[in-house]
Amino acid sequence: MIQPFERKKICLLTWGCQMNEYDSELVRSILKKEDYEFVKDERQADIVMLNTCAIREHAHRKVYGRVHSIRHERGKRNPVMIGILGCMATNLRQDLLEDRSLKIDFIAGPDSYKRLPQLIREACDEGQKSYDVTLSEFETYSDVYPSRKEGVNAWIAVMRGCNNFCTFCVVPYTRGRERSRSPENVVDEVKRLAAEGFKQVTLLGQNVNSYRYEDHDFAYLMDEVSKVEGIERIRFTSPHPKDFPDRFLELMAANPKICKHIHLPLQAGNDRVLDMMNRTYTKQEFLSLVDKIRAKIPEIVLTTDIIVGFPTETDQEFDDTLEVVQKVQFDSAFMFKYSERQGTIASKKHPDDVPEAVKTERIVRLNEIQKDITARKNQAHIGQVHEILIEPPAGDKPDAHMVGRTDGNKLVLLKEDSPLEKRKVVFFKIGDMAKVRIIDATPHVLKAIPV
Ligand code: SF4
Repeated sequence: MIQPFERKKICLLTWGCQMNEYDSELVRSILKKEDYEFVKDERQADIVMLNTCAIREHAHRKVYGRVHSIRHERGKRNPVMIGILGCMATNLRQDLLEDRSLKIDFIAGPDSYKRLPQLIREACDEGQKSYDVTLSEFETYSDVYPSRKEGVNAWIAVMRGCNNFCTFCVVPYTRGRERSRSPENVVDEVKRLAAEGFKQVTLLGQNVNSYRYEDHDFAYLMDEVSKVEGIERIRFTSPHPKDFPDRFLELMAANPKICKHIHLPLQAGNDRVLDMMNRTYTKQEFLSLVDKIRAKIPEIVLTTDIIVGFPTETDQEFDDTLEVVQKVQFDSAFMFKYSERQGTIASKKHPDDVPEAVKTERIVRLNEIQKDITARKNQAHIGQVHEILIEPPAGDKPDAHMVGRTDGNKLVLLKEDSPLEKRKVVFFKIGDMAKVRIIDATPHVLKAIPV
């Protein structure tokens, strides 16, 4: 029999969205309290945990492949315990438990992380598979302070779950219904983050602007968070277009700490397709919202998500999406080809009938249009002065460039070609707000020199 306290080294691998990254920070905090140690290299671990995502195509195949390769590498002489966490744990629990080749030891869904120490012990002591994928109507982990990596930005989940049931999405099934933390609890955590030196917080939620705690809405929460001294910038992601009251936009416009960037998921630009997706807005309503946002916050940076090839989407209907993209001129867009997710309404009601070649052709067209728009939008910044928040350099090479982000969340690379530029850049520290002039732009990055 394996004793749990002999097996203390954990390697935690994370896939998927920012909420999953945040959940991994919660898991680290919960297990560190039980004296578990976290290692980066899975070869040194006694336990490998995979925090999984069920949103993207083939995600489960990647996870299955990784489990097989870990089992193969470790062999029988050096066995390892394997646990599956996250959305796949809820969505594919039966498959995971029944697949004998995977030999999963324990499974924990997104609302069961506080039970992980017990699940690990059960799997160790009794040598049996243990699992808990119960969805909670109350769990917000408001009493767990995440074990975060150092940096300038801290993610903080203010609400969890989703009530919207977009027909293509598994989140309502894998993460349950919406619930929010109290404003006091969130503000206390933000104060602690400021004291630790974080300069920016990003409020997180599946529908972050649907936040509601008793009589308090998202505008109230943002306002309270912005009063915390030491925090220079506040961001949020991801909102739903249905929850943008005027009061919130007016607060955004007036409050210098709230960054002028909204990630506004469009998903599709045709009314019939939007209705089939259950997005609860029409093309015109989305365009009117964009007009309203721009009227109140002219400098706003808008980004989006788009799905191409939803079941039965015709070429003409896809043209409506292109029309919205041309009209709105998003700063950038994440684009996905539709693919079925087990358990969703779309997977039950609508066969995935748009041929793969058609989806590819549509995403290529969309990508070309958006690439031009992004390039133009970025070029328009040349000559402008921006205040950027200096971040840790991308990559760990010693000659890595210093980087930062504008208020609108554009990545800025500091050029240090001339001796004068080098001398100025050398004074910047991670976490500084630095004034820079944009001198060049590509679709991916702005290049700047210190002012
Ligand atoms: S709003 Fe729609 S896409 Fe977003 S998490 Fe909820 S169901 Fe999924």
